[in-house]
Amino acid sequence: MEKIILTGDRPTGRLHLGHFVGSLRRRVELQNSGEFSKIFIMIADAQALTDNADNPEKVRQNIIEVALDYLSVGIDPEKSTILIQTQIPELCELAFYYMNLVSVSRVQRNPTVKTEIQMRGFEKSIPMGFFSYPVSQASDITAFKATTVPAGDDQAPMIELTREIVNRFNNIYGPTLVEPEILLPESAACMRLPGTDGKAKMSKSLGNCIYLSDSPKEVKKKVNSMYTDPEHLTIDMPGHLEGNCPFIYLDAFATDEQVRRYLPDYDSLQALKDHYTRGGVGDGTVKKLLINVLEELLVPIRERRAYWEQRIPEVYEILRKGSEKARETAAQTLDEVRAAMKINYFADADLIKSQAAKYGK
Ligand code: ATP
Ligand code: MG
Repeated sequence: MEKIILTGDRPTGRLHLGHFVGSLRRRVELQNSGEFSKIFIMIADAQALTDNADNPEKVRQNIIEVALDYLSVGIDPEKSTILIQTQIPELCELAFYYMNLVSVSRVQRNPTVKTEIQMRGFEKSIPMGFFSYPVSQASDITAFKATTVPAGDDQAPMIELTREIVNRFNNIYGPTLVEPEILLPESAACMRLPGTDGKAKMSKSLGNCIYLSDSPKEVKKKVNSMYTDPEHLTIDMPGHLEGNCPFIYLDAFATDEQVRRYLPDYDSLQALKDHYTRGGVGDGTVKKLLINVLEELLVPIRERRAYWEQRIPEVYEILRKGSEKARETAAQTLDEVRAAMKINYFADADLIKSQAAKYGK
């Protein structure tokens, strides 16, 4: 079977390190692997509006920011189709039909939706659109017949719901839709990178992010103020690794080769961790290593961003062409869905004939 990717991001801010390890890094690898016949990368502006309905300007401004971040990490518009969700109205129609296949209580049980409702203070009054965004996400995935969705583990319940919708749809209306699989990052640190506050996941809405477009000065400041081990008061004291932000980030970003290059006393990250837990390593040393490692990653990203920032009209043209191309695929799926659901009245000559026969004509 053809292998197809769909992934995306909400244009609610610039992209951050959580996106990079949770999804972007893998997307670029998969894009360049040649294993996939089609790759769709969606800027989910309709989804962003479900909790930013009163702030459309924020969404509008961030479309270009997300697009610049995509191009700067190495997403290649020749190999991947970048699209804007609202420019494909077929997605809304699909979501409208899928809503008949999901119960309210099923969405209420979704742990990611639960947390997000809390975070946004929606407990008393949840906008219908926000509540139904997991269903809309199912239409995004299935419209492109995606087999593979590279994402962080907060997306696992969404993909599960999509699979349920696909199964229900195919059972009722006949085999039409494709069941997708989530492709999770390799390590726990990458599945849900914590914020610089060490608490919840790094998230645009929480203001605890290191952005891919942050300057070296900002990166340094953010790393230096990271949460470490509050009981590790002097260098000689044994330190704890659990919840220790710089070490979690090193797990996600550093290679042993980099550890050896910046700290020749250690032959691996594990050796540094062992010394830290025994006592004798200061948090400053660990943070300095992390800054070096992050800069190695971010320098080429910043350079590519600077290139595209000088070519904004060209970036919009990439988005327009990508959306047009994606719309063709979604329209094709919608035709199949309408036929399976028997709502393609005018495309069905047999229907007209049989109705006419009923009345003897
Ligand atoms: P918002 O706060 O507006 O929801 P966000 O920062 O959570 O923004 P999304 O656009 O919702 O970002 O997420 C896009 C993709 O990035 C998803 O695949 C998600 O799993 C992944 N992702 C986001 N944050 C992290 C993180 N901290 N660690 C790993 N993956 C992440
Ligand atoms: Mg999110």
